[in-house]
Amino acid sequence: MRFFTILLISVNCLLTQVYSQTVTVKSQDKQTQLNVVVRNGKPMYNVTYKGITMLEDSPLGFKSSEGDFTAGIQLVSKADSLVQKSYSQTRIKKSQVNYQANLLSCTFANVQQRKFTVVFQVSNNNIAFRYELPEWGERRSCVMESEATGFKFPSATTTFLSGMMQPMTGFARTAPSYESMYEADKPMDKVAQRKEGYIFPGLFHVGNKGWVLVSETGVNSLYCASHLSSPSTDGTYTVEYPSPKQNNGFGSTGAAIALPGVTPWRTITLGDNLKPIVETTIPFDVVEPLYEASQDYKFGRSTWSWILWQDNSMNYDEQVQFIDLASTLNYEYILIDALWDKNIGKAKMKALVDYAKSKNVNVFLWYNSNGTFNDAPQGPRNKMNTAIERKKEMRWLHEIGVKGLKVDFFGGDKQETMRLYEDILSDANDFGLMIIFHGTTLPRGWERMYPNFVGAEAVLASEMLVFSDGIRAAEAYNATMHPFIRNTVGSMEFGGVVLNKYLVKSNAGRNKRLTTDAFQLATAVLFQNAVQMFALTPNNLTDVPSFEIDFMKKVPTTWDETVYIDGYPGKYCVIARRHGNQWYVAGANATKEPIKVKAALPMLGGKKVRLYADDASKLTSMTELSIKSSGMVELQMQPNGGLVITNH
Ligand code: CA
Repeated sequence: MRFFTILLISVNCLLTQVYSQTVTVKSQDKQTQLNVVVRNGKPMYNVTYKGITMLEDSPLGFKSSEGDFTAGIQLVSKADSLVQKSYSQTRIKKSQVNYQANLLSCTFANVQQRKFTVVFQVSNNNIAFRYELPEWGERRSCVMESEATGFKFPSATTTFLSGMMQPMTGFARTAPSYESMYEADKPMDKVAQRKEGYIFPGLFHVGNKGWVLVSETGVNSLYCASHLSSPSTDGTYTVEYPSPKQNNGFGSTGAAIALPGVTPWRTITLGDNLKPIVETTIPFDVVEPLYEASQDYKFGRSTWSWILWQDNSMNYDEQVQFIDLASTLNYEYILIDALWDKNIGKAKMKALVDYAKSKNVNVFLWYNSNGTFNDAPQGPRNKMNTAIERKKEMRWLHEIGVKGLKVDFFGGDKQETMRLYEDILSDANDFGLMIIFHGTTLPRGWERMYPNFVGAEAVLASEMLVFSDGIRAAEAYNATMHPFIRNTVGSMEFGGVVLNKYLVKSNAGRNKRLTTDAFQLATAVLFQNAVQMFALTPNNLTDVPSFEIDFMKKVPTTWDETVYIDGYPGKYCVIARRHGNQWYVAGANATKEPIKVKAALPMLGGKKVRLYADDASKLTSMTELSIKSSGMVELQMQPNGGLVITNH
């Protein structure tokens, strides 16, 4: 390494003005190549796939309380190694993962000769990178103030982005909660300049030459969650820290870290088609479990009354109806939602949990996360935001046999909120409770990091189908985005599969559903979350065809494998998932015309399957068919329709 340093210094003396240093790392299949460049004191990287530029020179570096690490930078050393690991994982798209990456670590020095390292792990179709900071003399703590880290796309790129919500807006000032729509195929120069920027993940279509998904993973209590800036005029999206206005203005943006310390991983998934995007496991490949599971958590299906019967259903008798519904459907859980503290109360809750247990159903209970950072009025309040109250409450929950919590209405992405997420998860594990977050940030590798984390909303979810005509009209459009964007980087608790014709308790008169039953069944498979709250209601047992109810009784929520079949985000999608030896192929069509898809389903070649599909009259039927031994099959999906093929 000494020789390398001396060589660099001598080059530096010769070419002080146009001084440039380059090092390269390739994936094992040689198709993904990352080059690190220092040009005129600025550290950068660029990325090619099969020789085609996917990211142009993109900035690296950061500013901290201990100095500027964006300019006057020299590359002082580099090291390569191979990372190999195999792991099994519950609650994601795949149960067994093999990860192999070529690691390049580049150590830079700034003008004060303070060093930092950028570690790049390049696997086939995926890049993960982060900053690693040493102690600087006696300095063993530092505040990360901003990053230069960016992603510069070629000008022909179109974008699939969702705006970061403005802090302290929306219902009871609960934003941001990652509940804006993604806009499809927006040309780079038409992307709106938003002060709040855009959330992770962002999907980019590089001029018909390839696809790039950018996200973040490994965020825990030791950092804030970041997002993308609005694009600069040259097409660069920069990593930004949370708006200071989040959490009612309280708590800092940026991150306070101890030295030596690391930043979260930023991830880039790329390919010449969407297969690597749908199938990536990079959010989980580069993180590790942070604690052991206190028990063998069981995942599954749940009913919940709130989605269609709303607040008025929060009473003992109607919760009994939804426990009975769960029992009839062989579902593992019921979610008892907001306001149970007032309308049912703790004493009767024990009786309700006991009743559920007598029907072989277990209970998730809803909690408000808050106290300080918004005005969400629903109770129980002030039980999750301090260690003392939280542990007292969780002890009671454990005693009465509750199995999980849905905690709602978080304040944003600041480090202090990341601490709250982690504290809730860690305490809940001590009391044997699974956790679903609502009104929340994107989970960033949390399925692997926290063994009792079973999903997060962070999506324009089923509740907005009830509240907004416009969102109901865009239901299929949004559904065809999720497998490529939001849901590919983390579990997504959507709360869907509505079989009511109207999204109201009476199932008549208003909030008409615009998608077919086959579409709804497909979303049970398209949307991945290890515990799914389905929006079925007791009347569905008699007012929808029995084959649909039979399907909903059998559909799994955990998967061993996920395979991209076809699609284009915002237009249509077809993906396949495997649970044991049961395959489910699901599709949805958001276009205004019927779509024919020639699909290769080798996993079902020569097999007898059931096809759930809709026809031009929007009626859904179930037919049995035999797939040719080649596995080739021609599928048709109606507008606002969908399909499922399964051998189960
Ligand atoms: Ca929500």
